[in-house]
Amino acid sequence: MDHFDQSSLWCCREDFSADKSQHHGVPTVTSKEQMKVEESISAYYQFIYNKKPFKTEDLKLERSRHVAYLRHGLKNLSKSFEFLDASRPWLVYWCLHALHLLEESLDLDEQQSVIDFLARCQCSDGGFGGGPGQLAHLAPTFAAVNALVTIGTPAAFAVINRQSLADFLARMVTAEGSFRMHEGGEVDIRGTYCAVSVARLCRLAIHPLMSRTASWIVHCQTYEGGFSGSPGLEAHGGYTFCGLAALALLDCQHLADNNRLLRWVASRQMRLSGGFQGRTNKLVDGCYSFWQGALFPLLHHTLTSRDNHADTDSCWLFHCEALQNYLLVCCQHPSGGLIDKPGKSPDFYHTCYTLSGLSIAQHFCYGNTSKLSVVGHDANEVAMTHPLYNVGMSAVHAAKSYFMQQPDVQPSVFSASPSSATHNANQVPSRVNGTNNCNDRMDASADAVTEASQRLHISFAQAAPSVTPNSGCSLRQGPD
Ligand SMILES: [Zn+2]
Repeated sequence: MDHFDQSSLWCCREDFSADKSQHHGVPTVTSKEQMKVEESISAYYQFIYNKKPFKTEDLKLERSRHVAYLRHGLKNLSKSFEFLDASRPWLVYWCLHALHLLEESLDLDEQQSVIDFLARCQCSDGGFGGGPGQLAHLAPTFAAVNALVTIGTPAAFAVINRQSLADFLARMVTAEGSFRMHEGGEVDIRGTYCAVSVARLCRLAIHPLMSRTASWIVHCQTYEGGFSGSPGLEAHGGYTFCGLAALALLDCQHLADNNRLLRWVASRQMRLSGGFQGRTNKLVDGCYSFWQGALFPLLHHTLTSRDNHADTDSCWLFHCEALQNYLLVCCQHPSGGLIDKPGKSPDFYHTCYTLSGLSIAQHFCYGNTSKLSVVGHDANEVAMTHPLYNVGMSAVHAAKSYFMQQPDVQPSVFSASPSSATHNANQVPSRVNGTNNCNDRMDASADAVTEASQRLHISFAQAAPSVTPNSGCSLRQGPD
């Protein structure tokens, strides 16, 4: 493991004041807000700098406080959470995944309670609703599947009705290859990622449904390089993750302009704080540590295999140490839970995604190379998350193994009328660039996991810990 010399901690750099933003003579609402946030972050960094004597242990992930906050949330929510009544599987997933990252497991009774609750959220005609008796919706479907995979037991996997889930996805796909969030609902890139992710994770053979999907996603890449929610809108970190991860899962990442995307996302890491912003001219926010940070492993895979960069074989292409400084110094709430930025209250969403970003920043692995870079106390290390699903690496491996032994599942519409599947599969989208027809390969494969995404999975799985999984501004809403 690499240890950073405490005297060279990034947040304690001598010249950090030089990285402050300036009005350049034209103050605006945006620039004033930016400078206000930078002042509060500077105060935190100055506090660390002035602390004498300064020990490595001083920069510590307050693990036990965060665990207590998450455990409490899993069982007790106040009335103020009523507004999230249609996001209950999300609350479960955020808590479970964050606990997993903190290497905290649930006992058997707690596991069973979660499994029973999520089973009640599953709709008889497929997919999961935001709570028992609610309409099936792709966002809570993604959250419920990820939560069950995080628990990682046969009982949890068995809750997922793969046939009705495949039928639900078949009802949500549009003629252009995108997905509706729910019956009669909006179409955007969140729905598309959720559909592709659960299909891959549960090994559903629905690739004929997705013959136009990659082409639609590519149309969401903007002139800046990031992806927007739908074609023609503004690039945004959450939507960009959805777009690139979905393309990677479809073995079509080469269809994106990866160089332009790399420039855009690298420019979203903030000079003074080290955290990420979600969009151009927005403020730093801890949750983008994952949405933006997880793009780098995906880009690394494509750019390294394409260009054979010899100089990118030991770290992701962003300042991983700086991000860890921001998360550890500015994003931990004293009473437990993690936050967006200083002055904000903790919530389960930000706790989940800041810890997920911390995991990305700590763990580098590509091919046979893995490297751990933990800032601060040795005990700050968190578990490794899978950058395509944001589920623990070992949990993804267990889910793939379990569903590999289950019968193949395809939407009933294909079973009833084989010609309809053939018809859809022949609707190959026009090429954007690149040399391989990814859709031909998708259609030719009886396995829902394509060759390249298998390579990606293997690349990350090789560095996964050998231990068994714990026994034990988001996709639900628009951009902030
Ligand atoms: Zn946020």
